[in-house]
Amino acid sequence: QKPSVLVLGMAGSGKTTFVQRLTAYLHARKTPPYVINLDPAVTKVPYPVNVDIRDTVKYKEVMKEFGMGPNGAIMTCLNLMCTRFDKVIELINKRSDDFSVCLLDTPGQIEAFTWSASGSIITDSLASSHPTVNLCLQVVMYIVDSARATNPTTFMSNMLYACSILYRTKLPFIVVFNKADIVKPTFALKWMQDFERFDEALEDNRSSYMNDLSRSLSLVLDEFYCGLKTVCVSSATGEGFDDVMTAIAESVEAYKTEYVPMYEKVL
Ligand code: GDP
Ligand code: MG
Repeated sequence: QKPSVLVLGMAGSGKTTFVQRLTAYLHARKTPPYVINLDPAVTKVPYPVNVDIRDTVKYKEVMKEFGMGPNGAIMTCLNLMCTRFDKVIELINKRSDDFSVCLLDTPGQIEAFTWSASGSIITDSLASSHPTVNLCLQVVMYIVDSARATNPTTFMSNMLYACSILYRTKLPFIVVFNKADIVKPTFALKWMQDFERFDEALEDNRSSYMNDLSRSLSLVLDEFYCGLKTVCVSSATGEGFDDVMTAIAESVEAYKTEYVPMYEKVL
């Protein structure tokens, strides 16, 4: 059984660059991945791609034909792709002997995927195809821009978003602190291990609505952080990618021991 990795994260966090770096890393080790691009609006895909949404639907034409703005057009492209996704699953299935892992790059605007019916359908069809078709397992990798996360409030809203995605997908979850070449993400790991460190980072410790709310939330998120895998990488320099592969392997184990029995109960 091969794992499939769904790459999510805020616009500009580095999803595409991460997929590019991981693809190069795997090619160098003679264990190439199967790569799927689900971003219809990207102008250039900087990695060798096996399935590209842009071959199925033309973003610019959808905008013209349906008189839509950029966001509506992205959603419509995903909907159209979704209707053909059984074909994609078939393709992956046929090729499953030839790749080590299946990577899925998602649209720049995260909510286009995480808050749409088509995003759920694509996620579910990949996750649920494992027990029956023996295809791939699923892991979510959530990419965080470490340079932007140095602001405690930004960090908190990003983690809340991560938590809501875990809630929705109920899949093994890895947080990837990207752009480690700009800022060492150790600060974030410390905040997650010890909420008092996060507390110290909040603006001059004043009592204000935002600070009090952030403090309460960090206590709540403590439970979320405990069960979380984290890795620190730079998609620009390639540091940390051995850890990425270790984290994926561990999550696949977790999927087998925790998630498959859960699905079997439901099915
Ligand atoms: P996406 O919207 O999440 O797919 O983000 P992109 O992969 O397009 O990256 C957004 C910007 O961040 C680009 O300018 C990238 O070159 C840059 N970027 C991505 N990863 C890194 C990294 O690890 N280090 C640095 N310095 N820049 C990065
Ligand atoms: Mg992208």
